[in-house]
Amino acid sequence: MNNTILVDHPLVQHKLTLMRDKSTSTKGFRQLMREIASLLCYEVTRDLSLEPVQIETPMMPMQAYRLSGKKLMFAPILRAGMGLIDGMLDLVPSADVAHIGLYRDPESLVAVEYYFKAPSDLPARLVIVVDPMLATGNTAVAAVDRLKEHGASEVRFVCLLATQVGLTNIHTHHPDVRVWTAAIDGQLNEHGYILPGLGDAGDRLYGTQ
Ligand code: URA
Repeated sequence: MNNTILVDHPLVQHKLTLMRDKSTSTKGFRQLMREIASLLCYEVTRDLSLEPVQIETPMMPMQAYRLSGKKLMFAPILRAGMGLIDGMLDLVPSADVAHIGLYRDPESLVAVEYYFKAPSDLPARLVIVVDPMLATGNTAVAAVDRLKEHGASEVRFVCLLATQVGLTNIHTHHPDVRVWTAAIDGQLNEHGYILPGLGDAGDRLYGTQ
């Protein structure tokens, strides 16, 4: 399981509990999603490389450090992935954002693509795919497939909740993709929803349930 990173920070766990609670309002859920996204972004960027840079403080010259290496690109899977984007952009405002439109066929649970838009220089990017729920993993696998077809070579995945089935699915198809998640839940129901989970993340974000 060393390509799965469980983010067990107390703030993340506390916010996730509030998000799971069915009495949390749409507005509260959306705000919590933004906050937890920033915390997950902090973890997924923990090992980014730095380079020395010479600057002058108001007091004297010094050698400081700035980010180096590949430019970041966030890739939310529509629509629930959009709920994580603002919180991530709060921390990395210079990142670009690709959009991947995929929905799960309700019968087969297979991922169906309806939209894909990404910058043309994908090989030069560190791509961070975001989707709150890694359930069967079919959507995540399809998203990474498409990004790699377009040249992405370094991909990470961030979610709030995963299942072991979903993790095994993505790691079988894409062993190079590490997954950051706030929790791993036990089960999937017959409709592909995570149990105990938090319900339909898109519906809870946008009040469409
Ligand atoms: N997508 C959701 O929104 N919720 C789940 O439990 C599984 C997939």
